[in-house]
Amino acid sequence: MRGDVVEPTDTASPDYYHRVVDCQWACPAHTNVPGYIRLIAQGRDTEAYLLNRESNVFPGILGRTCDRPCEPACRRTRVDGEPVAICRLKRVAADLADDVRASLAPLPLSTNGKRVALIGAGPASLTVANDLAPLGYELTLFERYDRAGGLMRTNIPSFRLPEEVLDDETDVILERGVDARFDTPVTSLRALRETGYDAVFVGVGAPRGKELELPGRHDAPDNVHVGIDWLESVAFGHVDTIGERVLIIGVGNTAMDCCRTARRLGGRDIKVMARRPRDYFKASPWELEDAEEEGVEIVVNHAPTRFVVEGGRLTAMEFEVLEWDEGARHSRVLETLTVPCDDVILAIGQENAFPWIERDLGLEFDEWGMPVVDTTTFGSTLPDVFFGGDAAWGPKNIIWAVAHGHQAAISIDLFLRGLPLADRPTPGSTLVSQKMGSAASTATCRPTSPRACASSATPASTSAPCSVSPSRPTAPRPNSARGCARRPSTPTRRSSSRRPCPRPVG
Ligand SMILES: Cc1cc2nc3c(=O)[nH]c(=O)nc-3n(C[C@H](O)[C@H](O)[C@H](O)COP(=O)(O)OP(=O)(O)OC[C@H]3O[C@@H](n4cnc5c(N)ncnc54)[C@H](O)[C@@H]3O)c2cc1C
Ligand code: SF4
Repeated sequence: MRGDVVEPTDTASPDYYHRVVDCQWACPAHTNVPGYIRLIAQGRDTEAYLLNRESNVFPGILGRTCDRPCEPACRRTRVDGEPVAICRLKRVAADLADDVRASLAPLPLSTNGKRVALIGAGPASLTVANDLAPLGYELTLFERYDRAGGLMRTNIPSFRLPEEVLDDETDVILERGVDARFDTPVTSLRALRETGYDAVFVGVGAPRGKELELPGRHDAPDNVHVGIDWLESVAFGHVDTIGERVLIIGVGNTAMDCCRTARRLGGRDIKVMARRPRDYFKASPWELEDAEEEGVEIVVNHAPTRFVVEGGRLTAMEFEVLEWDEGARHSRVLETLTVPCDDVILAIGQENAFPWIERDLGLEFDEWGMPVVDTTTFGSTLPDVFFGGDAAWGPKNIIWAVAHGHQAAISIDLFLRGLPLADRPTPGSTLVSQKMGSAASTATCRPTSPRACASSATPASTSAPCSVSPSRPTAPRPNSARGCARRPSTPTRRSSSRRPCPRPVG
């Protein structure tokens, strides 16, 4: 609106068409939801998978774990009272699809001579690798642990995300010429840049769990756990038991994973303690539902005040019982009570930490210790260093990390071709979709740089468009490695022999 004049609709802008498909616009990666659901309805599961993968990269993982910002936008809610099961349909396509390796954007026959370092092997860095590999970049991935996946591996429990699904979708990317250096934490950005990389992507996530500094916090260290560290220890097989009475402090999705994991490790009486009323919980409704179905009790309006430790042993936790006004802005204390427990798990959030980035490099940090990152280009104040995922603006979720990864990859490609970072492609297109076109239809790809396009054997120097018909995989994959929807997923625990043994870089 300009004054009282409504500006004409600009149908020339691709944004117009994206915005009218509410669910597609609501998905941070702009997944073509109607398109892939139509393909599933036609029994074309592999094509549905490929169409998904163009934008969200991990359909099998996200079909099980996505926070689903698309579903509240679904228009069927206005008719049926609830949305189409967009997320779960993604899982169906993933479980029934054939192996897609042969259908991915082809890799060039030679590299383009530019070296890119990716720090961290979570969904953000993996997306950057996925998008840059077909353009011929030499990609080196540094990961402090022994395998790829980031929090998807170390924190999302395997009863929600089976290891084989994670392995399958991360391997597909790593197999595309990525030099993955596991057990190799980066300890100095200066030293890494001095080794001659042309660009660096920082996808290290938000690795620190928030503390709750109340009286008694450090008096029984064996029984008070920081949620994300505790889940990581469970994933690595270092922890396999917990006391019978467990309190989880916090009520976000980490709390839900903690309580359901505690249930599987022997917890009998598990309470999730929330400060505020249920309408203000951060956890997704389906996570709460799953936890309650497993017998976890959700206790509202309880604010923790003290850990009760007797004779060096944690015996209880003290809470103030609160009454909130409308809008839950102000509360008053009704009473104080103690809740007996054997273990407490703190699940009140995550923080970023960049101890390995020297503060005299010219990379600016804000007053909260976060890097200054451009919201469009994902560039930092150093022209060759880009951020994405939880490392950019704090903890979000997988699909946001993927969306960031696509944008950062576009910026890295522009930067390394000496083009302005502001020259963005239309929303929803990625470097891979520009190269591949739609996975579900014959499409045109235009090599965006003077590089070889292996699909058409176009000479490296030409910029002429080439036509790519994505090949249809024909050999069905027996018992898909992605884990079948009908197969019960059993918790898989990693043996302690896989304990990370990091070799620092820098
Ligand atoms: C308990 C829990 C449950 C969650 N459940 C969901 C869910 O169901 N759905 C959802 O969408 N999101 C979920 N999330 C959030 C989601 O996992 C993250 O938002 C997402 O993984 C962020 O991706 P990322 O690539 O930015 O970072 P991460 O996944 O955190 O990956 C960062 C990687 O960098 C590595 N690294 C860190 N520092 C260095 C270094 N100096 N050198 C080398 N490597 C380094 C780390 O080891 C890690 O592998 C959950 C988070 C938690 C904590
Ligand atoms: S990736 Fe997540 S937000 Fe995007 S369409 Fe799929 S379920 Fe929805």
